[in-house]
Amino acid sequence: MVCLLSRKLAPPKFAWMNGRFVEWDKATVHISAPIVNYGSGAFEGIRAYASKDQKELYVVRLKEHIRRFFESAKVLRLKIELPAKEIEDSIVELLRRNEFHEDVYIRPLVMERGGVALAEGAVSPADLAVFSIPFGRVANIEAGIRCCFSSWRRIPDVCMPPRVKSCGNYVNSTYARKEALAARYDEALLLTIDNKVSEAGGANLFMVKKGVVVTPPVTASILEGVTREGVLHLASKELSYPTAERDIDRTELYLADEVFLCGTGEEVAPVISIDGHLIGEGKPGEVTKKLQTLYFDIVRGAVPKYRGWITPVYGGS
Ligand code: PMP
Repeated sequence: MVCLLSRKLAPPKFAWMNGRFVEWDKATVHISAPIVNYGSGAFEGIRAYASKDQKELYVVRLKEHIRRFFESAKVLRLKIELPAKEIEDSIVELLRRNEFHEDVYIRPLVMERGGVALAEGAVSPADLAVFSIPFGRVANIEAGIRCCFSSWRRIPDVCMPPRVKSCGNYVNSTYARKEALAARYDEALLLTIDNKVSEAGGANLFMVKKGVVVTPPVTASILEGVTREGVLHLASKELSYPTAERDIDRTELYLADEVFLCGTGEEVAPVISIDGHLIGEGKPGEVTKKLQTLYFDIVRGAVPKYRGWITPVYGGS
């Protein structure tokens, strides 16, 4: 996996904060803010894909991501002071102003505001921001990735709710991922505190066994991924596979025919080994490849039936 911020990039011209477009270097928060001190904020991760001729850019599942953004803020008791529609429109306008014609990543943030790093009231005011950067692959989705189970467990809902995309949650992911990278794997998988399969640090997990496409339920300490929901829909409605949301044991994965991760960043990434066990034949499986192809056709605007999943930036070609 490639760290989002490790790539050397020329900064875009504009970011967006609290309803205004601002120069990139001016999009800052103070070191005393609770978001800096405690990680009390939430974010979204959205992709926009360029069309084949690079004239158009399509934002993927914009409304669904902004809905989850508001849900995260609600659980965190942070007040988003602008309506969803204004944030959605501002994201599209930000991409236009930065004149992006390549694949990009979009990062909305809601950050607890405060002059000093002391606890706020029950519902806290928050700064809103969005930035976007050019963004390619983070996972080797052609060859597949090698995973291991982390010695860390996925945070449970009773401590740090994983269905909330809060900034602080990602320290759990960081522990797991760094452990995996240090052991020369590509990515970490996490178990729940009840020893069931949860997800990866930044992506949901699926297995395919005897033609059934299975993923852990929303109660398995997962983030309720927008891509997960989309993949379940496509597997069932377009490719006619039976699907199931149920608990999965660790060793079921070792014996699965196929395993893949999915998420905005990871896209649809085949898992070819786990803890050194080859999955299936140790190469991307047929169901995974079919889902990958369909997913990329949809997000690049090539499937008219799924135009509702994407928002054109430059005028709807
Ligand atoms: N789980 C975690 C922990 C994540 O960070 C992500 C990425 N947002 C996902 C799953 C996948 O979610 P989505 O498909 O909405 O990007």
